Amino acid sequence: MSEQPFRSEQPFRRMVLIGIGLVGSSIALAARKQGLAAEVVAVARQQATLDEARALNLADEYLSDAAESVKGADLVILCTPVGAFEAVAKAIAPHLEPGAILTDVGSVKGHVHRVVGPLVPKGVHFIPGHPMAGTEHSGPSAGFAELFENRWCILTPTDDQDRDAVERLTWFWKSMGSKVDLMEHEHHDLVVAITSHVPHLVAYNIVGTADDLATVSKSEVIQFSAGGFRDFTRIAASDPVMWRDVFLTNREAVLEMLGRFLEDLSMLQRYVRNGDGPALEALFTRTRAIRRSIIDAGQETAAPDFGRPHGGEPDDQPKSE
Ligand code: NAP
Repeated sequence: MSEQPFRSEQPFRRMVLIGIGLVGSSIALAARKQGLAAEVVAVARQQATLDEARALNLADEYLSDAAESVKGADLVILCTPVGAFEAVAKAIAPHLEPGAILTDVGSVKGHVHRVVGPLVPKGVHFIPGHPMAGTEHSGPSAGFAELFENRWCILTPTDDQDRDAVERLTWFWKSMGSKVDLMEHEHHDLVVAITSHVPHLVAYNIVGTADDLATVSKSEVIQFSAGGFRDFTRIAASDPVMWRDVFLTNREAVLEMLGRFLEDLSMLQRYVRNGDGPALEALFTRTRAIRRSIIDAGQETAAPDFGRPHGGEPDDQPKSE
């Protein structure tokens, strides 16, 4: 589907972020910076999380009761791990105001339509979304206002969803710097299975395998990590709960893409076993061109070493999803 036209809108009255980790806190910072909501409410279960959010001045109100928080809200965004969405939706549904927009940032969309959709009261605009931007860090301190700049945010409204509400949410994401596209949720889940979920599974697997190897000591794995392994460890350091939920809720699409991946891996295994240089070189030439297209599309920098600053400086906010 094509991009929606960008139009100016009134700020939201009361924006509630249920979950104030990396994504929730980044929305809080970006929305406040751009003046997109008059009042920002942060919700989390643990007092320690709320205290951390308060210390960072992320919101105007800090609550542990999700049901209470949505009263009077015209924008509610689910920013918890996907596995918590159903319980949260059950708790807030009776308190959502007619005309409010209910959306989310979950990495999986079919599951959200299935478990949250039926709970949404009539008159509330339910527009699932997924900002394709992230890092391997989590918690309120991990957020930064620029997280969504030049990153895609995919919205997956149903066909009968109110167009004005979709445009208003599109305006919201574009105002935070995102590019917005609309997609069927099934298609979204397949796209992210190959672009994000299977790569994470591969990274978790490689790092796990290296960790299990008895023939290579752990100190060698760490010492010589720059040979490619290091880049997998960044992805494999992503939040365990969030990624557990991704694989539990996008099972079909991940298994479909994993099947294809394994077939191609077997083919590569054959090339290596047979010493098939031309086949290896042909594939590697094709894959190098793909990286070039990602750089040309502005989704990565051309700097060597995956954009890391050199001279031993710490990694500065690598983009994950
Ligand atoms: P995160 O940093 O781990 O934060 C999760 C937040 O949710 C915490 O504030 C946590 O605080 C709160 N929470 C958990 N369960 C809750 C519940 N039942 N009720 C209320 N609050 C609850 O996670 P994140 O990385 O921001 O990810 C959040 C969502 O964004 C996930 O659905 C993920 O799929 C999606 N996403 C992530 C990325 C990424 O790269 N990380 C990118 C795009 C989209 P308490 O533990 O105190 O409750």
